[in-house]
Amino acid sequence: MAGNQTLTMIKPETVSKNNIGPVLKQINEAGFRIKAMKFTHLTKQQAGEFYAVHADKNFFEDLTSFMSSGPIVAAILEKENAVADFRELIGATDPLNAADGTIRKLFAESKSRNAVHGSDSDENAITECNFFFSQVERF
Ligand code: UDP
Ligand code: MG
Repeated sequence: MAGNQTLTMIKPETVSKNNIGPVLKQINEAGFRIKAMKFTHLTKQQAGEFYAVHADKNFFEDLTSFMSSGPIVAAILEKENAVADFRELIGATDPLNAADGTIRKLFAESKSRNAVHGSDSDENAITECNFFFSQVERF
């Protein structure tokens, strides 16, 4: 339902450090329900499509290389006010600026390897959920 869903990715370094479980625990304890979930590995081209809005940024090459460097977990999360509440739960892009107790503060290594993705608007949440999941994959 528009407005109540957001898209997250648990990024490659979080997966490789065996932190999928701890991150999902934080997400569930914050009141988000999982509506769809996929363990997958993006190609560099798919990472570029997902982050197309950043194609002109100097970090785009590093971002798409990193996001295609290993498996990720993609999930649709549902909660009232999902987009804003999830951005609050994950904290600022750079973990140095993330509030105590946020997922990025707890798990991120750096501004580029920052543990998780969260949609930044309802419109982008819909686009990003559709990027990973068909309607029949949502529960
Ligand atoms: N990123 C980076 N360097 C920057 C800004 C962003 O490597 O200076 C990466 C980082 O992984 C971030 C992603 O690009 O999560 C998308 O950037 P955005 O500004 O949308 O941050 P987010 O919405 O993820 O907080
Ligand atoms: Mg963003």
